[in-house]
Amino acid sequence: MRLSSYFLPVLKENPAEAQIVSHRLMLRAGMIRQQAAGIYSWLPLGYRVLRRIEEIVHEEQIRAGHIPMLMPTLQPADLWRESGRYDDYGEEMLRIKDRHGRDMLYGPTNEEMITDIFRSHVSSYKDLPLTLYHIQWKFRDEIRPRFGVMRGREFLMKDGYNFDVDKDAAIHAYNRHMVSYLRTYERMGLKAIPMRAASGPIGGDNTHEFLVLASTGESEVFYDSAVTDLTLGNRDVNYSDRDQVKAICEEFTAPYARTDETHDPEIFDKIPEERRKVGRGIEVGQIFYFGTKYSEPMGAVVTTDKGERVPVHMGSHGIGVSRLLGAIIEASHDDNGIIWPEGVTPFHCGIVNLKQGDTSTDSACEALYAALAKKGLAPLYDDRDERAGAKFATMDLVGLPWRITVGPRGIAKHAVELTSRRTGESEEMSPEAAVARIAQIYGRT
Ligand code: ATP
Ligand code: MG
Repeated sequence: MRLSSYFLPVLKENPAEAQIVSHRLMLRAGMIRQQAAGIYSWLPLGYRVLRRIEEIVHEEQIRAGHIPMLMPTLQPADLWRESGRYDDYGEEMLRIKDRHGRDMLYGPTNEEMITDIFRSHVSSYKDLPLTLYHIQWKFRDEIRPRFGVMRGREFLMKDGYNFDVDKDAAIHAYNRHMVSYLRTYERMGLKAIPMRAASGPIGGDNTHEFLVLASTGESEVFYDSAVTDLTLGNRDVNYSDRDQVKAICEEFTAPYARTDETHDPEIFDKIPEERRKVGRGIEVGQIFYFGTKYSEPMGAVVTTDKGERVPVHMGSHGIGVSRLLGAIIEASHDDNGIIWPEGVTPFHCGIVNLKQGDTSTDSACEALYAALAKKGLAPLYDDRDERAGAKFATMDLVGLPWRITVGPRGIAKHAVELTSRRTGESEEMSPEAAVARIAQIYGRT
């Protein structure tokens, strides 16, 4: 993408309404625009990151054997009357009447709808296990939308629902979600810690929240610092191997890690003092096993191999897709702007032309642009007629992890500069070597 023909409305001034750094940087970098309290347009740069995050979520869900689909944002109230939640949900639910006077609502979550789909089409244990998920906009009329996309009213969520014949199978689905989430967040360059959580209005007693440690997080968290050393890495996970998946969950949940809702000072105090940490965290996901809470009242029943009719065991599992942008920025920025992890960056690298209009510099930039594109990489080329300082400031603000700087003096000796956004370190090399290095970083050799 050439910056001269892109739409990147960066702000020079700090927007007064933004209280936390991620919100400020998303506005300044021209990623989002607020349209009403807690409701945002995703401008092109923000949209690119959002899509990248969605892609990673899809890839890891499909890898775990879960099946993508898409349910609507609007739902009939009747389904929620069946489960008993229409009245319980309260003011957070946006209720709408259509022209015929029928009660509708903008979905805050989809347990009822997915249970309805299931009961209409599945009746035998032979069709289980089954996990369906979608990535769809939700609406919750939050009393205090704030912090930009972190606590919106309209927000994008991945929500998945497992259907299993018994509790053991459903717990395996729960574990599968835990492991797939660990991998999902790691690919985004995030450390998200599964913490034992309280079940809240969705119900059930088996639940973990995934928290990204950040001083601006809304949850108070208590943990053994040993938990922050764990990584899944490139382990080969066989998602149908119950024992292996369970062992990984046990490894990641062995160190103490809880939110204030489930915190137990008696256990916590037994952790060696130097490892005992109290902090704050951003909830980027949650998994639940809730048994037959919805299948029973809604009649989602299967016939077992013994011919019995039993309500299915279910769980629901969510990832805050749009909130993740804020969480990633909270975890990865400096005074000059965002620092995107390679996994989610909107462009793979930037190209800064120090002397727009100089024939040799321009053509070196064009050649770099073409060579990167040929490797399947998407550079953002700053080809505007601007001072070098302004170009660097924009690149730092939008946070691409790598920058190639091209100027007449370097080009005279066939050299460009490759700079890491994270460390600020620069290295001089030939344009070919810079392309090869970036291709290697992104595994596109
Ligand atoms: P919270 O406690 O933050 O209100 P929740 O527990 O009500 O969230 P869930 O029902 O668990 O939310 O939804 C799954 C995920 O969706 C959450 O882990 C969170 O990352 C994200 N999420 C929930 N509410 C919002 C919101 N208002 N804005 C953005 N993301 C949200
Ligand atoms: Mg939650």
